[in-house]
Parts: sequence; structure tokens; C-alpha cells
Amino acid sequence: MSPEQLRQYLEYFEDLGITHLNLSSAPAKVAASITPPVVAAVVAPVQSGPKPFPAAVVKSPVMDLVLPTLAPEGDTLAKIREDIGDCKRCRLCQARNSIVFGSGNENARLVFVGEGPGADEDAQGLPFVGRAGQLLTQMIDGTAAKDKLPLKRDDVYICNVVKCRPPENRAPQPDEMEICGQFLFRQLMVLKPKAICALGATAAKALLNSKEGVTKMRGNWQRWHGIPLMVTYHPSYLLRAYNAEAKKEAWLDLRKLFHFVLDDTKVEPE
Ligand code: URA
Repeated sequence: MSPEQLRQYLEYFEDLGITHLNLSSAPAKVAASITPPVVAAVVAPVQSGPKPFPAAVVKSPVMDLVLPTLAPEGDTLAKIREDIGDCKRCRLCQARNSIVFGSGNENARLVFVGEGPGADEDAQGLPFVGRAGQLLTQMIDGTAAKDKLPLKRDDVYICNVVKCRPPENRAPQPDEMEICGQFLFRQLMVLKPKAICALGATAAKALLNSKEGVTKMRGNWQRWHGIPLMVTYHPSYLLRAYNAEAKKEAWLDLRKLFHFVLDDTKVEPE
């Protein structure tokens, strides 16, 4: 972590109302390695700027300092939405019509994470309501029905890595993902599902920070802060006619995911 990233991280704490970090219990090596510019950053006035993607534990190569989680205690989805406000933290605010926070069952055992809103989602303020969304609904309802599993789209929670539509449906840029990532982190921490499904490369990158492609990762269990996570293809990718094989693979991934999520005897995936 660079001093600049650390400064931004500390700004984030300040936004949460935490104005002091007690370093007195930190190892001597840590205290000794804090340079004046970094300490100054703690007391510097907050400037608006990118907020880093949070992590439960951040190990800084600069300070070797372990920082706590970035979800405030007693957090709720309503509080997160309130904190997002009329967000102007990144350039995506310029062309958006709505902030697409997420929707679905707030007690869901399963959360789907997509990339970012498209035109239909931006118009309606809801995630996955366009063509890709219709396919996602079919995938959820159809896979469950085929295996006689009691699961429908209304039973899950759906959200995105970025909450505002990227212009021309381009992929979100790293700084946009980082800024919005703090809210996704908080949403998942509040929802605490039994499993997460990352739809496509952007969600996989945001949640796992992995350089692997979806083809390599799909079908195998991963973890997000201890929660089992399955990566599968994004429905928009599956809408392309030549992706019939990928479609079959996505159905297999969802089957595996649903059986785990709905099986009360299983705490851990196989
Ligand atoms: N694609 C996404 O990633 N998210 C949506 O909400 C819609 C399309």
C-alpha cells in the first residue's frame, strides 16, 4: 500500500466518524516506521477523492499495519443507501439517471453481483431488468425448477459492482470500482449470504482481485471473506449466439450453487 493509498484509507475512516487510530499497541517496528507525511495525513482535512476498496485486513508493505474492517458497526442496507446519497464521488455520476443500489430479498441466502447498470437499469433504478436481466431471471427460475428446488429470483438479492451506468456500457474503470467497492463491501457484509455468485469478469475481479479469467475460475468454489463464492459467466456474454457451450456451463454452476445454498445440512461447499 502506498502512502497515498493509506491516506485515502484513513480518509475513509474519517468519513465513518473514526478520527483516531490507536497505534500505541502496534509493534515497535510499526510505530517507528510511520513517517511524518503519513501521520500528517491522518489530521489533514478531508478532501473528496477516490476511496479504496476495503478489506477485512489490510497489510501495508509501508507500515506493516493491520487495519480493521471498513463496515461500520450496526450497518444496514438503508444506512448504506443513505451514505451513497446523491453520489458524486466519480465520473459515472455525470451521465447517470439513477443510482442502482440493488434489490431483492434482504434475508437472501444467495447474492448475485453483476458489473454495473445498463440503459434499462439506469432508467428504472433496478438491477438486471433489461435483456441480460431477463436471461438471469430465466437462469435462476429455470435451473431451480428443473431440479425441483424452491428458489426464484425474488428469493435472492441482486446488486452490482458499480451503482451508476458506465457510458456506452463500457466496463467500469479501476478507480470507479474502487470507489463504489466500499458500498458493495458493506452490502455483502450486511446481507451475509450463505453464498455469493459473481457474474462475469468485473464482479470476479472486484470480489477476488484475481487475474484469472472467468473460464478458468467458473465452476470452482472461491471465498469472499469466508463466504463461499461461485464465479460464472455474465448473462450478457451468454446472450451472444455463439456461446451455447458457456450457457451449459453456467447452468451447471448455478445448479451447484443452488444445491449448496438450499441444503440446510451443508455449511461448507464440497
Ligand atoms: N448488467 C449488469 O452487470 N448489471 C445490471 O444490472 C444489468 C446488466
